[in-house]
Amino acid sequence: MSDAIDHDTIVTAIVDILKEAETILPQDVVDSIKKAASEETSPVAKEQLEAILKNIEIAGSRKVPICQDTGILIFFVELGRKAVIDCNIEEAILEGVRVATDIIPLRPNAVDPISRSNSGNNTGSGIPDIKYELVEGSSIKITVAPKGAGSENMSAIKMFNPTEKDRIRNFVLETVMNAGGKPCPPIVVGVGIGGSFDKAARLAKSALLEKIDEMDEEEMKLLEDINSLGIGPMGLGGRTTALATHIKKAHCHTASLPVAVNIQCWANRHASVTLGGDQ
Ligand code: SF4
Repeated sequence: MSDAIDHDTIVTAIVDILKEAETILPQDVVDSIKKAASEETSPVAKEQLEAILKNIEIAGSRKVPICQDTGILIFFVELGRKAVIDCNIEEAILEGVRVATDIIPLRPNAVDPISRSNSGNNTGSGIPDIKYELVEGSSIKITVAPKGAGSENMSAIKMFNPTEKDRIRNFVLETVMNAGGKPCPPIVVGVGIGGSFDKAARLAKSALLEKIDEMDEEEMKLLEDINSLGIGPMGLGGRTTALATHIKKAHCHTASLPVAVNIQCWANRHASVTLGGDQ
């Protein structure tokens, strides 16, 4: 049997993946921005994309956050059914967040929703948001996705009448159009279709973790439609409004059709670690 995963191991791992997520963009995201920069015909759009790439390079080499908005922290925990865990995972994640906030450092973003008083360490009631999923195996995989408010604020959800499936595409396009330059395009668009009110939002959020260039025909078509809006990098016009769209679906009630659109900025940050088991 493999060694139990303890508190300190999780705390250290959380600090490490937060440091990685906040300072280094996943290579597939960087590659897609580079590709967009090489294909842009508008000089202003090209300039914006090149400035973003320079920003990414400086953050990586100086090991500083890619953006001043270090986000609200979302964790996805895949718990192996046979993993041996010798601590309270949630307490260990929270401690990792507090340590990372102090040493990276991260801007403290977590506030009480009404009083707006800041906890000072990126933790608070229900935050960070930790989503658990039971999977096969004896390891645990933890992914962190720091989510900036500029893009999160432009996301939307709608409970359609089940007969309105033909309106989904327009709802996505309207959401992107209303967002304009506010979510720091080029964006990644996560679409959740089905489930329930909250499940659709969770599907849309987890869609943002998909590999940028792994899109099926439906997703490619939606991306083409979004890019024909002409919003462009930072909203200054151009052919690159979005880098990718990812759609996730779930069965829903026969009387429902929930659709969520989660918008992510170019800083599509996430990093993962696997602990325990046979890695
Ligand atoms: S939307 Fe993204 S790139 Fe823009 S300020 Fe927020 S985190 Fe930074």
